[in-house]
Amino acid sequence: MLELIKDFVKKLNCSSNAAGIVNILGEIFSPYNIGLASIYIYDETTSSLRDFAKSWIYIDEFLAKEKSKKIYEIFSRLTFDNFINEQNVLYYPVFNGNKVIGILEITGEISERLIEFMNLISIPLSLKIQNIILSEKMQKIVDFHDSMKNIAKIIETQYEINYIVPIIGEMIDKFVSGHLVYVFLCLDNSTECRLVWPGACNDNKIYEMIKCLNNNSEYILTPDKKIGIFPLISENKLLGCIVTKSTDNVLGEKEIEYLEQLTNQAATTINRANVYAEILQHATLDALTGLYNRHQLEERIKQEIAGAKRQNRHLCAIMTDIDFFKTVNDTYGHTAGDLVLKTVANVIKSELREYDTAGRYGGEEFVILLPATTGKEALMVAERLRKSVENKKIDISKINPDTDKKSVKVTLSLGVYEYQENDNENDIIKKADLALYKAKETGRNKVVDYIQR
Ligand code: GH3
Ligand code: MG
Ligand code: MG
Repeated sequence: MLELIKDFVKKLNCSSNAAGIVNILGEIFSPYNIGLASIYIYDETTSSLRDFAKSWIYIDEFLAKEKSKKIYEIFSRLTFDNFINEQNVLYYPVFNGNKVIGILEITGEISERLIEFMNLISIPLSLKIQNIILSEKMQKIVDFHDSMKNIAKIIETQYEINYIVPIIGEMIDKFVSGHLVYVFLCLDNSTECRLVWPGACNDNKIYEMIKCLNNNSEYILTPDKKIGIFPLISENKLLGCIVTKSTDNVLGEKEIEYLEQLTNQAATTINRANVYAEILQHATLDALTGLYNRHQLEERIKQEIAGAKRQNRHLCAIMTDIDFFKTVNDTYGHTAGDLVLKTVANVIKSELREYDTAGRYGGEEFVILLPATTGKEALMVAERLRKSVENKKIDISKINPDTDKKSVKVTLSLGVYEYQENDNENDIIKKADLALYKAKETGRNKVVDYIQR
């Protein structure tokens, strides 16, 4: 018996999670010919028992109704200094001090020897379980601080809403694992929240709940605490909301508190981005790349179309997009990604004539306007650009001293379109973009002509 206990304690010390503990019990008990060992832990925020090994699933959700009722009933009867032996099932308390915090259930052939063994191990087992619960809570706190730090970093360095939103979404998603996360924003100063991340949300209940939000809303929970709506409010204005929907967990008190703080931070970031976007509307150049910004680019397209019409000249547009740029960010960090963007913009500038126009259309998409240029010439320009970017080594060693890699390379996909009479500014962009899409679809790092697409 002593050997068995020693072995058990040794194994117990080596395991660091709930599933591990249940496995050890199964192993240790195998000579006793017993069926199953399960651990149920009481969760105070929801006043219900959860399965310790199955990532905290509520027992009423996965046990048969009768069985679940029985466990709750046993839980109400158990005391920290006793066990229950009923219908060939042993129930031992999991305790903290003299408070019962859960149940260890053992089914099968119950012998004197097993009971003796259980009496001896129930204390170290309870201690270990307390330990794991505590470290899970600690991990949550660490994750939360990481998320806060990341959001703070974005606040300082990033202003583009399309770029900020997925980062916030992914960060919150990581923080509340076991929940789906959605980001809704009130776009263009409207009061209606629209889904912006991820691609789809089909839950009507969520849409109904969001309709109730206003400029001074607090968070809203469904009665079962499975859906949480956290409004993004900054300077007394509703900017959108973050929604969490449980897959198997409900929101605990601490999580709600964290989510409130995270959404506050996110709201500040988004507010700044909105203000920045407004300022940008009046600015000419994109701050990161020094190319024309989107607003100015659209103005230039209108002017060039007018010029082409007036003087009966050719006009071409090239739309470019960096290939697999997300991987660059994910691998080397966003600051390295920014440097890549700047470098590609510089390569583009250096390859163009004085009266050509290059602008940043979106995140890593650039548009180039080539007045007095035929489609054939534009294809040559695009090909030259493609090659220059392909050959450019971008030194990231200063930004990223920790990586072994000193420099990175990226490639461009390019779509070329030659202006036709009656095209407006949207047509030009749309058609260059269709050609670009084809370039992406057929392998990337290539030039595609709209006509030959
Ligand atoms: P594809 O070849 O299909 O274009 O793949 P991709 O990864 O480039 O495409 P996707 O559109 O999914 O990714 C674009 C990425 O550009 C996502 C976003 O994180 C990044 N991005 C957008 N704006 C910025 C920025 O200002 N700085 C940095 N570092 N990254 C940005
Ligand atoms: Mg893109
Ligand atoms: Mg891309």
